[in-house]
Amino acid sequence: MSMITVTHTPTYELKQVQRDVAFHLEQFHIAGRITPEMRVLIKPNLLMKRRPEEFTTTHPSLVEAVICYLKEAGIHNITVADSPGGLYTAQALKGIYDVSGMTEVCQRQQVNLNFTTDSREVRREENKLVKSFPLIQPVCEADFIIDIAKLKTHAMTGLSGAVKNLFGCIPGLTKPEFHWRFPEKELFGDMLIDLCETVRPGFALVDGVHAMEGDGPSGGDKRELHMIAASDQLYDLDLFLCHVIGADPQKICMVKSAIDRRLCCGDLQKLDIIGDVPQAKPFAIPQDKGVDFMGQVPAPLRGVTKKFVNRFFTSRPVIRKRDCIGCGKCAQSCPAKTIRIQDKKAVISYQRCIHCFCCHEMCPVKAIDIKRTKLFDH
Ligand code: SF4
Ligand code: SF4
Repeated sequence: MSMITVTHTPTYELKQVQRDVAFHLEQFHIAGRITPEMRVLIKPNLLMKRRPEEFTTTHPSLVEAVICYLKEAGIHNITVADSPGGLYTAQALKGIYDVSGMTEVCQRQQVNLNFTTDSREVRREENKLVKSFPLIQPVCEADFIIDIAKLKTHAMTGLSGAVKNLFGCIPGLTKPEFHWRFPEKELFGDMLIDLCETVRPGFALVDGVHAMEGDGPSGGDKRELHMIAASDQLYDLDLFLCHVIGADPQKICMVKSAIDRRLCCGDLQKLDIIGDVPQAKPFAIPQDKGVDFMGQVPAPLRGVTKKFVNRFFTSRPVIRKRDCIGCGKCAQSCPAKTIRIQDKKAVISYQRCIHCFCCHEMCPVKAIDIKRTKLFDH
């Protein structure tokens, strides 16, 4: 039976977070699993250049609390790293680290903040769909990985939790290629499970103190859930998160895939939950989650119907021209290469759009809406 720990964490005040994070780490005897010579990687969710109070990225106080705990346990070889959306360059990393609060934490605690942008292919033959992933160097070198995710809804996968956070182990603009290769949610979910099996974090914490609902993972609204949850079983932790946000696990692609592959127990009753589960009303879901036709179509017919469905039935990204600043970040992250900048505004050609919503995710000024087609505007 997997153990999930939950704390009611009212604020990001460091002392409070330290107490709660220590509780989680102690329940799983994490200090006892890491020896001083081991290299520990802390992997926060640093999706984009956002300040901690914008509830898009892992709050720095959780990262600092984990570092303090490890150092007190005599573990000093600690690196903080992520490959955010967009370019994976030292300059881009610096901008995101500075704004997200990671630079300050790592300087204060004197731990490494990764600026190397190397990556290498890591093979895992047992994987179902993807046998080899390009992974950023600190992930390849780590002996123990602590995943610190941010709890958010997600336009494509439905949930951004412990497993989805690992997508940031893939370097920069290689990520959109995975969207291109696996445009259907079912396959994307399988890919994420293969990725998790390849990266194999030892432990995961989820920052749900100020979570995001609605048009996540970057354009949603704040949900003050005041919760940190943790486990060493990431699939079961994501199952628990489904319960917390009021989502059907069968509709969250990576949770469904983990259940189908018997990596996740699939039943909340089978989890050993330590702590008080927040009694929250269901999270508002991303607009795209309202309609998932491809999931209903029998597999043999999907190829034939895909074009038709994509054109008429699914949601799509729509640029709000008055807010677009023409930065090109959406075009850069579009795996289908179907966005161009014209007269300093983004323009989408929908024929090739695969509805991954990377553009929506990466727009720094939230100028991309997710809209259902007119057929569903009752
Ligand atoms: S336009 Fe947006 S949603 Fe469509 S393929 Fe490009 S990034 Fe994905
Ligand atoms: S839509 Fe957003 S990401 Fe794309 S060019 Fe405009 S401001 Fe930049």
